[in-house]
Amino acid sequence: MHLLIMGAPGSGKGTCAVELKSYYSIPHISTGEIFRKAIANKTKTGLIAQSYIDKGQLVPDEVTNEIVKERLMESDCKKGFLLDGFPRNLDQAYALSKILKELNIKLDAAINLQIEDKYIEQRIINRRMCENCGRGYNLISLKPKNEGICDVCGGKLYQRKDDTIETIDKRLVVYNTQTKPIIAYYKKLGILIDVDSNQEIEKVVSEIINKVKEK
Ligand code: ADP
Ligand code: ZN
Repeated sequence: MHLLIMGAPGSGKGTCAVELKSYYSIPHISTGEIFRKAIANKTKTGLIAQSYIDKGQLVPDEVTNEIVKERLMESDCKKGFLLDGFPRNLDQAYALSKILKELNIKLDAAINLQIEDKYIEQRIINRRMCENCGRGYNLISLKPKNEGICDVCGGKLYQRKDDTIETIDKRLVVYNTQTKPIIAYYKKLGILIDVDSNQEIEKVVSEIINKVKEK
């Protein structure tokens, strides 16, 4: 299964991706997570990425496309993959089509999580992430059993540095101007799946699985 999942910041891509990854037994490739790990490890890519991420901007395409290409060529992607957070603009979408053509892979579906702007701020402000496994929590809708601790791996929960009101507004502008146009691109390719993400996670996930089956 070769899938990608897209949607506004805070739309629940990462949360759904964790479920879909185990359902389909495919690797979950999140460009955001790759960048956060690179930043934590203070690599060259991490240093470049940090300056953009902290400002709510996209990391330049040359950097991002190359990272994705290298990741998709790793052997675990032979059984499929779930791309999360890539592509984020039309040029990245074209770059992805080119990479997939070279690797002789066809995307099965592009999942588009729909959420109204008015819910996004609250979702992101209350978001907490596990520093160990990357799992996402929400202080209101998806509370950890023990405060500050990941249910699954016991890792410490933290708030992302870019999850502030100021940065969220910038990320939303980037999403609306740069990322939204890729929805039409995948619609034209005939693989778009729209899913309302303003419902319980289990419902969102089962709707995705059912719609992927119909593709
Ligand atoms: P969210 O979807 O909540 O914004 P992500 O973890 O997917 O969170 O991304 C966090 C940040 O990482 C983005 O705001 C952006 O700066 C950077 N980033 C992630 N994916 C890409 C991408 N495909 N191209 C450029 N920058 C990216
Ligand atoms: Zn964890």
